[in-house]
Amino acid sequence: MLARLWLPEADVSVLERNPRGANYGWGVVFPESLLREVGRNCPGTASDIANAATRWDDQHVCVRGSRPVHLGRYGYSIGRTTLQEILASRCQRLGVTIRYGEEAGSAADLADADLVVAADGANSRLRTARADRFGTRIEQGRNPFIWLGTSREFDAFTFGFEPTTAGWIWFHAYRYAPRASTFIVECSPETWKGLGFDQMDAEARTRKLEAIFAEHLQGHLLLDQMGALGRVGWAPFRVITNETWVDGNLVLIGDAAHTAHFSIGSGTLLAVGDALALVDRLRGGGPLAAALRDYEVNRRPAVEKFQSVAANSSLWFENVCQALTQPAVEFGYALLHRREGPKEVSANRGWWYGVHLARQIGIIPEARRQLLATRRKLRSPWSW
Ligand SMILES: Cc1cc2nc3c(=O)[nH]c(=O)nc-3n(C[C@H](O)[C@H](O)[C@H](O)COP(=O)(O)OP(=O)(O)OC[C@H]3O[C@@H](n4cnc5c(N)ncnc54)[C@H](O)[C@@H]3O)c2cc1C
Repeated sequence: MLARLWLPEADVSVLERNPRGANYGWGVVFPESLLREVGRNCPGTASDIANAATRWDDQHVCVRGSRPVHLGRYGYSIGRTTLQEILASRCQRLGVTIRYGEEAGSAADLADADLVVAADGANSRLRTARADRFGTRIEQGRNPFIWLGTSREFDAFTFGFEPTTAGWIWFHAYRYAPRASTFIVECSPETWKGLGFDQMDAEARTRKLEAIFAEHLQGHLLLDQMGALGRVGWAPFRVITNETWVDGNLVLIGDAAHTAHFSIGSGTLLAVGDALALVDRLRGGGPLAAALRDYEVNRRPAVEKFQSVAANSSLWFENVCQALTQPAVEFGYALLHRREGPKEVSANRGWWYGVHLARQIGIIPEARRQLLATRRKLRSPWSW
């Protein structure tokens, strides 16, 4: 899309192996900075995303069905299919050809292109075919997770932890559209096996998870896309890094280049940031090889910072059973600060305890509502 906007002489084609509207995964969260970044480059697209997104205004942590601990903060969420459709429609209006149902096999198949951008996700075929040249490393996390959906609307970004006979199991959930929330379940491999998930078909595992999280789901069902397709839903997260993102005229962006654990909800922001950074270098003109090198050199530090924070967060969840011995509010603070790695967070405790109490008695939601109403009047080309 941006290539069409900024390189008007370029002939841009997108190959998408799925049919239009088909997508894996449910909703994703993103911060306001994504709207700002996109808005600086294409205000109409930022406006479309903002109008289709849902805003959440608090984070809740519920341990063993307890009253929620309020962590504050806000963010946005949007269905993956909706986001893809917004980008696809904008592309087509700008004259980009999208070839749905067409698989990109290898860069050799695309030999007539001046530049091939591999945005084909974590399992990128384009990258895999040249894994040696990219120096691809794939490290597997410890905990299995499964990406589900539900019709229960979680207004706050909610983390729920439940004890079972085989250990703790938890979910991360948030609303992304009316009657639609993402619901990601995670546990240790020991709990996973102890609960018999290794022996269960999709139907049985969904019913079991509904029973474990019944109090949170309030009668709503869990929806399992992968199960419906007859695929294995559980998997450990795979952290992907590459020594280089460029090989000749093939350049990696998004999950093809790098992944960051889902518990920091930043993969989409990174993928969009990569695309912006790449086009920014290309629009400067000059030799292609130099532009691609500049893209990588300038973009890598920001990406690596996210990957490091994501590693802290993923490790924290892998060791969460120790943290669960604390009282609920202390546990909530620890979860909030998980990205910072194993360091003392007590300095912030007074402040966050205040946030928790103010939210519990309803002061902050009202103050925030008024602040947002004022801000909406004052600024922004988009409205939310
Ligand atoms: C459980 C979970 C939860 C997550 N939650 C969040 C979140 O809340 N917020 C967030 O920002 N990120 C989240 N992420 C990460 C986010 O989904 C990814 O980082 C992001 O989608 C990466 O975008 P991408 O375009 O690089 O890859 P993808 O979104 O994977 O898109 C790749 C596209 O390429 C197509 N494709 C693949 N191979 C080929 C081929 N050979 N030929 C043609 N087309 C092909 C695919 O069909 C797909 O449309 C989550 C990830 C997981 C696993």
